[in-house]
Amino acid sequence: MDNDRALSYHAVMRGFFLLAWCLCSLGLGTAQALTLVWDYTYDTGGFFTPDKRDILDVVASRLSAVSINSTEIAPETGNSWEWLFLDPSSGNLTSVANPVAPAGELRVFVGARTLSGDALAQSSHVVYTANGSPSWLDSLAARNTAQAFLPFAGGMAFDAATNWYTGVSPSVTPGAYDFYSVAAHELGHILGFNSPGIAAWVAQSDQPQRLYMGVNATASYGGSIPLDSGLSHWAAGTRFNGHDMLMVPDIPLGVRNDWTDPEFGVFRDLGYAVIPEPVAALLFLGGMLSSALRTRRRAW
Ligand SMILES: [Zn+2]
Repeated sequence: MDNDRALSYHAVMRGFFLLAWCLCSLGLGTAQALTLVWDYTYDTGGFFTPDKRDILDVVASRLSAVSINSTEIAPETGNSWEWLFLDPSSGNLTSVANPVAPAGELRVFVGARTLSGDALAQSSHVVYTANGSPSWLDSLAARNTAQAFLPFAGGMAFDAATNWYTGVSPSVTPGAYDFYSVAAHELGHILGFNSPGIAAWVAQSDQPQRLYMGVNATASYGGSIPLDSGLSHWAAGTRFNGHDMLMVPDIPLGVRNDWTDPEFGVFRDLGYAVIPEPVAALLFLGGMLSSALRTRRRAW
């Protein structure tokens, strides 16, 4: 038996450089429930059987308290963009030209393949290239600032060779890895628990000390929260109310991890609204907005 072996989650973050100058103020829309759309376009191998799709819907429902201040992003004549992300079933870079990103929607492209090493899953952010007016570029850049991270979309790849437990009950079968826990964890990375390229996460972290300092999460946790060396997870073994937190680097066989109160605090720190917290209707931005070119693999 190898039930003491803890496999690692992987997070993949690839960035593209966008630099835009502006002196402006932007009004973002009032908060609305985060609408998670699981996109099976790239599930070429038929990995997502009904039981797995049901679990992804449960994962989404657990975040029903989370709202997002965003307006629709729609290309038009003279203003274009292209999403770039990893095809979750091949691992190859792919793209979607000029998508519409409805207000409040987060689209997650899911797939499966045999992942290298001990990875259970990988996640990636959709990044973009864009051309157009300064106000168009500003509206895109405003989704990733030190005050708020409001993702458009992401990719999530699961290991096709893992023995998955796909039940709803938290009584995970011994000898299997819990699909719910892993999907929720990877969604956490897409939502912003990820150091590379996420300005709001970086702004809340004391990276030299490897501590997360965001006010809402630390108030719930009772102090700063230790980060692991990759700065995209809590330190291994970080617990709350006697249980491993969801965003620790590893999960053992036969275990269900779930969101904890401090992790919902992180959502608030990153600019999401979490019921019943009051919602800020406007976010004012000015000066230079930028997102940096970054590539990082295995950020755990
Ligand atoms: Zn992870």
